[in-house]
Amino acid sequence: MALSKLIRASIIIYLVFNAGSHVSLYTCLGFLSKPTKAEIHKIKQARNLFIVEPGVKEPGFFIQHSQCYNAWADPKKNLISISRPVINEFSVEELAGTLGHEYGHLIASSRSTPTGEQMREHWKIDIVGAELTGKKLALKANHRFASIHAELFKKTWTRFLLQLPYYRFREIKKKYEFRNEKLKELPD
Ligand SMILES: [Zn+2]
Repeated sequence: MALSKLIRASIIIYLVFNAGSHVSLYTCLGFLSKPTKAEIHKIKQARNLFIVEPGVKEPGFFIQHSQCYNAWADPKKNLISISRPVINEFSVEELAGTLGHEYGHLIASSRSTPTGEQMREHWKIDIVGAELTGKKLALKANHRFASIHAELFKKTWTRFLLQLPYYRFREIKKKYEFRNEKLKELPD
């Protein structure tokens, strides 16, 4: 009886631990704020690394206070949101590649490509982004996203203890690898 209780408690702890880690790594919930002066400076540095064709209206920028690593474009409001870990930890070049991709969503929307299609064929948005920033920065950003959790999952015990987040990480990594293969086909 005591043993079965112990097993049940272990399973519950395991599931709660995995679900909690999954939420903190991949669920991008959090309030939006205007970027601070330092954040605006970094966005400008990244933005200065590429040129956008005339006719594309510059978007507004927001910082999302979540733990995940991501950025989003909102074509209706002409906004780009960047999660806090991305603005804080990415290099200026990695941020430029990330912004290029988000501008890619804005441009694709202005060409009437539906959001569903943009997400299904995400690599095409990378290509639009790479046309702005150049292939090198687009690849840098994707490499960074693909390897974000690699450090965490390098140790066998993390792969074992955090199985749910680890499977999700592998799935995301595979998608980025596919997208990078497509980017590599572009001329230098
Ligand atoms: Zn995207």
